[in-house]
Amino acid sequence: MDIRGFPTSLPEFQRVFPDDAACAHYLETMRWPDGFSCPKCGLIGEPYRFATRSSVVLRCRGCKANTSLTAGTVMQSSHTPLSTWFWGAYLMTTQVPGQSAVQFQRQLALSRYETAFQILHKLRAGMVRPERDAIGGEHPVEVDECLIGGQTRGEGRGTHHKSIVVGAVEVRSRTDDGKKRTRRVYAGRLRLRVVPDRSADALTGFVKDNVAHGSVMRTDGWTGYPGLPEMGYRHEAWILGGDPDKAEAHLPMIHLVFSNLKTWIKGTHHSRIEPKHLQAYLNEYVFRFNRRFYPMTSFHSVLGISARTVPPTYAQLYSGDWEHAA
Ligand SMILES: [Zn+2]
Repeated sequence: MDIRGFPTSLPEFQRVFPDDAACAHYLETMRWPDGFSCPKCGLIGEPYRFATRSSVVLRCRGCKANTSLTAGTVMQSSHTPLSTWFWGAYLMTTQVPGQSAVQFQRQLALSRYETAFQILHKLRAGMVRPERDAIGGEHPVEVDECLIGGQTRGEGRGTHHKSIVVGAVEVRSRTDDGKKRTRRVYAGRLRLRVVPDRSADALTGFVKDNVAHGSVMRTDGWTGYPGLPEMGYRHEAWILGGDPDKAEAHLPMIHLVFSNLKTWIKGTHHSRIEPKHLQAYLNEYVFRFNRRFYPMTSFHSVLGISARTVPPTYAQLYSGDWEHAA
């Protein structure tokens, strides 16, 4: 258990959340830290609990109104046991590589693949804060694009079925307190977006939506970025001329991000991500990346325990109609 009271290992998680009742108790404590009060009549006092079924409903002893423990969370109206949701959120937020729906189905012995897919995809929907801040500011930002996915077998060369992903990452530095005073650089916050092309509109539009005005922007010499100074950014472009070593030196952080992203897509998901779902996977990746130091906050927000989001329906998720925010 770490200092914020969050389980740091699978056995610890199992001890904290051994069954559905423990998960229900946790939800209740989160919502009513000082004890249950009826949302309908305001009566304060122990509610009636149902011993025979999984206790996701509390009944007021005064007005007899039922209150659902999962209302407003991603688990709302779901028939999946709470413990399955909790496991899903835990595994998804704490495992660096994340997990595929197939792995999740197998590990939790779920009978249907669709159930596993639906749980993970709903958790993914809780991975973007609508009000999230712009990155950059005092930290320089590296921006670049990469190609993701796409089978070109039998279709000749080119970028068939490949998606263009543009990314921006903060370059942060800290001075060690020790005697050496070496400056160490590390990756700050990250943003990724699927774009239709490499046009200036698509690329600078992404920058405008995600990076704070006035930030130092580092890019290669691609023509999609010359508009940045007029937009109020300080632009450090580098004409790379296709030399990979120079690219590494000028944009080391975003290239490392892309390399790890590709490894994740290939390794965990066997490169089988449909383009219509790619943004959701990018959101998942960015979410875990940006909150790698805050596991408890991640756990709560994917379950929607604190951040209330409207959960999408299965039909919306499966058709790809659900707008995963970018
Ligand atoms: Zn009541």
